[in-house]
Amino acid sequence: MKTDPKKSERFRKSTTAIHAGGLERSIYGEMSVPIFQSSTFAFPSAEDGAARFSGEKPGYIYSRLDNPTVNALEENVATLEGGFGAVATATGMAAVSSVYLSFLGRGDHVVAASCIYGASRVILESELSRYGVEATFVDSSDLVNIEKAMRQETRMVFVETPMNPSIRLTDLAGAAAIAKKYGSDLVVDNTFASPYLQRPIEFGADIVIHSLTKFINGHADVIGGMVVARDQEHYDRVKKVAALFGNTMDPHQAWLILRGSRTLALRVERGQENAMKLARFLESHPKVSWVSYPGLLSHPQHELAKRQMDGFGCMISFGVEKGLEGGLTLMNNVRLIALAVSLGGVESLIEHPASMTHACIAAEKRREAGILDELVRLSVGCEDFEDLRDDLDQALNRIGEYKIKITPLEAEMEAFEEPGC
Ligand SMILES: *Cc1c(COP(=O)(O)O)cnc(C)c1O
Repeated sequence: MKTDPKKSERFRKSTTAIHAGGLERSIYGEMSVPIFQSSTFAFPSAEDGAARFSGEKPGYIYSRLDNPTVNALEENVATLEGGFGAVATATGMAAVSSVYLSFLGRGDHVVAASCIYGASRVILESELSRYGVEATFVDSSDLVNIEKAMRQETRMVFVETPMNPSIRLTDLAGAAAIAKKYGSDLVVDNTFASPYLQRPIEFGADIVIHSLTKFINGHADVIGGMVVARDQEHYDRVKKVAALFGNTMDPHQAWLILRGSRTLALRVERGQENAMKLARFLESHPKVSWVSYPGLLSHPQHELAKRQMDGFGCMISFGVEKGLEGGLTLMNNVRLIALAVSLGGVESLIEHPASMTHACIAAEKRREAGILDELVRLSVGCEDFEDLRDDLDQALNRIGEYKIKITPLEAEMEAFEEPGC
């Protein structure tokens, strides 16, 4: 769905999240967008059907192509991101794969951040390579690394900021300038920040990707994805490919996610207020060796965060004493904070990449990629700060209290193929 140029009145972010993507009310005056649970749509006449197919007349045809409830969610997220239009997809990975399939072909080259979501990286490494697409992975927190990897045939620069699990940033304006210089697209997976805190199109990105599963839905109960395009050309391409390959979204799923998006502002405001306080608490905790949170003065990119983000977000990573053993002790002793992958929900989640999402990567390679044994990732939710603080405090204080037998995790986890959730 394209954003509606007729609705020229631009509102602020919270208002946009609540009101963008409404449909015309029916005679019943419903407040919530109805769920159009219909696979197909009847044409008033054969001529009208033909005109819809040729694009001469607007109107719905079939829900893999377009559906009013799905369109409402697309308009909501496209407006939040300041894009030309958006295409909703069944999952975040369907959004990523739609973007790859839309813009890459044989002989093309991609420069991607080494810390992009695990599955996004695995597709480039072991699937698209079969179709003749090459990728180079770099630490995108330093623009010099992106520039060095660019080639004549580079079609796409793919980054995430903040990055997982280091919570380092990528300079969006700088990355866009490099991509432009080489005639390539800048694609930004904006899942970790959400459009409430960061709108990459304002900094020159061509495509923004979301796993709606995370902050935009926000309630750990639906999977979904979105591709937002800067202009008509990029939108038309993604729209066509997503519909052809069948990557599009179901109306019931769209309705649930739109319901989540309406409270995006409230949830992110509360989450990041908690995150700031927790980051300060962790920094002063004797069992914590370091904290990475863009809101802390100690974060090397604190100034960049102030430039390109409207707030510092809800994601923290930190190091605990005693490495892998310390991480495992913390995981096994939290009571309120759930031990789970994923992020961006109202409930706080904790995970330990070295023993969980990134355990399938050999210890040596993990360290090279900056995924230290002691690193713990926290997605801060909307609970009372004091309860989160007390839970972390009691669990951290158990570190070193008893010994844990550590089995060789790499061998055990060989079957687990998709790191980086
Ligand atoms: C979760 C996630 C994805 C994948 O999204 P799904 O909805 O699980 O398919 C992609 N990118 C990032 C940054 C994510 O966190």
